[in-house]
Amino acid sequence: MRYSRNLGKLEQRFSALLFLAVALLGSAFGSSRLNAWAGELHHQYTQQITIDFRDPEAAQKAVVAIAPLFNDHRRAVSCRWDDNWTSDNETTRDLMEEYGIRGTWYLNDRSFSPDTKRGDYLPVAKTLLKGGNSVGGHSLTHPYLTYFHSNRMFAEMLGVRIVWEAALDRPVTSYAYSFIDLRPEPEGKAVLQRSLDTLQRAGYHHIAEYINLIDDIELKHEFSPIMPPENNDFDVFKEAINWAYHDQRLTQEFPMITNSMHAWYGTARLQYGYDELRKRLELLSGLDDVWHCNQNQYAAYRRQYRHAKLTPIERTGSTLRLRLTRPTLLDLNDEMPLTLAISGVQSDAIKRVYCPDAAVDMSDRQTHRRSLFHLGHSRHQKLPSKIAHLANPGNKTGEEDLPTDPDFPALRGAISVNEESLHLSLRCDESQFLSDIRVVWRVPIGWGVETMIHEQEGLDGESLRLSQPLIPIGERGSRWGQTHFAAQVDFQWNGQPGRIHFTCQTPGEKPDDSLPLNGFAILGPIPNDQWDTAEFVQMMQQDGDCERWTLADGSEVHWRIDSRDGYVNHQWLNPEYVRTMGTWDHYSPTYVMRSEVYSPFARKARLLTSHAALRSVLVNGQLVDSETVNLKAGKNQIVLVYPGSALSVETQRLAGCFVRLADPETGQRWEDIRYHAF
Ligand SMILES: [Zn+2]
Repeated sequence: MRYSRNLGKLEQRFSALLFLAVALLGSAFGSSRLNAWAGELHHQYTQQITIDFRDPEAAQKAVVAIAPLFNDHRRAVSCRWDDNWTSDNETTRDLMEEYGIRGTWYLNDRSFSPDTKRGDYLPVAKTLLKGGNSVGGHSLTHPYLTYFHSNRMFAEMLGVRIVWEAALDRPVTSYAYSFIDLRPEPEGKAVLQRSLDTLQRAGYHHIAEYINLIDDIELKHEFSPIMPPENNDFDVFKEAINWAYHDQRLTQEFPMITNSMHAWYGTARLQYGYDELRKRLELLSGLDDVWHCNQNQYAAYRRQYRHAKLTPIERTGSTLRLRLTRPTLLDLNDEMPLTLAISGVQSDAIKRVYCPDAAVDMSDRQTHRRSLFHLGHSRHQKLPSKIAHLANPGNKTGEEDLPTDPDFPALRGAISVNEESLHLSLRCDESQFLSDIRVVWRVPIGWGVETMIHEQEGLDGESLRLSQPLIPIGERGSRWGQTHFAAQVDFQWNGQPGRIHFTCQTPGEKPDDSLPLNGFAILGPIPNDQWDTAEFVQMMQQDGDCERWTLADGSEVHWRIDSRDGYVNHQWLNPEYVRTMGTWDHYSPTYVMRSEVYSPFARKARLLTSHAALRSVLVNGQLVDSETVNLKAGKNQIVLVYPGSALSVETQRLAGCFVRLADPETGQRWEDIRYHAF
């Protein structure tokens, strides 16, 4: 299947270009975007710290601050490695361990493979964790995610998080976009923002991506800029690392250096063998004053650094008392301690650092002018040691036969949607005890609930029954297609911390005729060397139509309604796309699309499409060379020639064509027009 080969080549080539963008854009971002607190899901808790000094003077002079990175290192170093089956991740993991490098494996669904090697990736994923690595999300099915409606985006992002949390019993907090598909025109930033909001809803708080992701975005996630990937030669790699390491702004705002992006060394996918990977790992491990971590650890540390607050409470005699407010462990999903730095006094003036509910470890990096210690999380904060997934895909609403999971055999439950509310039912056997319950409702961006988080102390042989009204929010377009809902329930079960992800699906809203998805007939595929746009336009203008196209071998291509070319799931497409070849290939034959468009009155409209520079548009037989088109009252014929092309690396696929007729002033989609395929 062409898909798998292109996936590799494309990411390689795309990445090379973007590295240039990284270098150019390196100085273009400011610090204000770091101040945003990442949404309503986050809680904080407080710890008291006592520092005893040798004398009152030291207690008066001491200054305590949170270090920007663990152990007050200058920089963090990690790896982003993508994909399940296309990469030889295991050999790379072995080499990383040899050089003391850690990283995060961004995986797709357990059984997903772009080619024929389907199977369960869990045994490999378990070995990838060794050496201090973590797993992140890379979508369930490796699509160009921006072609999908918001509900499917949510399913791809949340689905892969739940799959790996439940399979590995480890939290997943970090995401990497498949195909680096971020902001295709004509929607651009709007679709990127939808995907970022969706990531938050799904429970991710870290992204590893090229720095141009955040050009004009108020990013609420923690962020690791990625370095030029494997296809550049060593000199380019070294230059990039040196640039990043010494860049002041990166050091201050995004101190992570992320080696990326596929473990292809020593395979047919890459011109370099493992000797090349060794050179790179050696360079990274030789950087001075670096914290080698995985990206869960980095995200948890930086999230605390950005949002924690350390306040001196009192200085009495030789004692300094401070209060630390920091994000809860359940929101960080990684147990990273915080490093506090004491300056202003000699290190031998410090007698003791104490916190009643947490471990305090002195750092191995003391100097006489500055002392460091690591403050763990409160012993009352706990992360799940087992994670389960209880699915209700058919949205059954009864209380009988509630599903259970081997991780928690005494617990049964499900979520379901009924009468515009989301319901959770969780039953615990009488002999068991469930406490410290926290429910986080997870809904896609077209929906809200009244209370996102529910907390409850315990459940004594009773059932937990919760309901939340589902409130439609934002544009209607956010609610098209099958809808996925979830509840993340953290708890202690007989004193052991656990987590269950509950999920259910509903059919969702069907796109109507004001959307182009099923409103166009297509003519194609036509090999590019047998297509002539000028000839087509001439036929259209002379004859008023072109019902067939004759190929070189004499065969004819005719218009088709309800075409399903390619493997892309039609139900998942954003209905503002018209399906053409329906694959993620970067080479496409020609397709022509036509629709009878009904407008209730005559007006000017803005016609937005993908690949505006490539395509040709005919409205009522007239070739249109601007975005603004004239619609008559009643029926209009719109024809779009979507020429085949071998797309350059920065171009989105020709899987389909975005089509929007919009108000020229506001850019809002006209909802009173109707598309009709003929
Ligand atoms: Zn990938």
